[in-house]
Amino acid sequence: MKNCVYLDYNATAPARPEVLEIVSGVMSAPANASSVHRLGRAAHKIIEDAREKIAELIKLPSAQIIFNSGATEGNNTVLKFFSKEPVLVSAIEHPSVLESAPHADKIPVTPEGIVDLHALEKLLKKKNYALVSVMLVNNETGAIQPVTDISALAKKHGALFHCDAVQAAGRIAIDMRAGHMDFLTLSAHKIGGPQGVGVLAMGLCGITPTLLEGGGQEKKARAGTLNTAGIAGFGVAAELAENNLKDSLRLEGLRNYLENKLTHISPEIVIHAKDTPRVSNTTLFSLPGASAETLLIAFDLENICLSNGSACSSGTVGASHVLKAMKVAPDIARATLRVSTGWATTQSDIEKFLSVWEKIYSRVREKTKAHA
Ligand code: PLP
Repeated sequence: MKNCVYLDYNATAPARPEVLEIVSGVMSAPANASSVHRLGRAAHKIIEDAREKIAELIKLPSAQIIFNSGATEGNNTVLKFFSKEPVLVSAIEHPSVLESAPHADKIPVTPEGIVDLHALEKLLKKKNYALVSVMLVNNETGAIQPVTDISALAKKHGALFHCDAVQAAGRIAIDMRAGHMDFLTLSAHKIGGPQGVGVLAMGLCGITPTLLEGGGQEKKARAGTLNTAGIAGFGVAAELAENNLKDSLRLEGLRNYLENKLTHISPEIVIHAKDTPRVSNTTLFSLPGASAETLLIAFDLENICLSNGSACSSGTVGASHVLKAMKVAPDIARATLRVSTGWATTQSDIEKFLSVWEKIYSRVREKTKAHA
């Protein structure tokens, strides 16, 4: 992050220094947790310690946690397991849910980007769904979904409930003790851990979805040599996230400051999901008439890194499916930027962003006037 203001935490968070330290330490010894010798046993212990820390973050017994390569795998594992049964997913899920369940029916959302509970109940009455999948926090808007109510409706109609909690971890409390979640996916790199490691956490429904075969790891639930160093880093990141949930108050202060100033500089901007419960680190806003790609390049030239929506969809042309589901007009959707902050973001980062925005905005306005 040297010489760069990094405001793209929803794409990936910078690894915490404590994570870098443990990852490089663990990687310096050969460590296959399935080996019987002392190095294998040491790796096994590192993994079990990390499992405990991640279990603490989501308030679940550690035996109900399965390590994998990240949330894309976790979501694929659950959704593909139900590929021959009726499934409902929200229209604003991450592509790793939507594309692994092409057969799923979609639950619409409100213009504020919240799952429409009335529409969900109507759908549940029409068909015997086996699974409902809704994320806890949307990666583009930061909107917090009413997953307790969604799960209660799913269960009332005999369906299991899967929750992609990737963008919620470390930002809001996650408590699986209530038993409303049957499957939950997490990813280490969104909370300052390493990329390429995640978990699938199981409730008590007694079903263990599997995707990979060819090894007895994770009690046969997920074949493949465990990523010992990555898992160790995930454990440390989870511990820090658990202790640092109060950082969200600081980030909320930064976000409110950012949004007030943005609106002051450029009154016509639209801040999406502004009046709905949101995590404190995300601002998704549009400058009607502008092009997000042009704005992003202008920020990049000033060493400011942010995103034009979901990281996974940036680079592809076309409007965000999330904004489309929220019925945002295409010319506004095309002009959308996402600022997402995290553990290392400072007030000075926000000030730099704002001073660059002031410059870019006045250039855009001058151009618009010239074309008028
Ligand atoms: N789910 C959500 C909501 C995400 O934001 C992402 C990543 O952007 C993923 C799943 C995929 O996570 P991973 O990078 O661990 O595969």
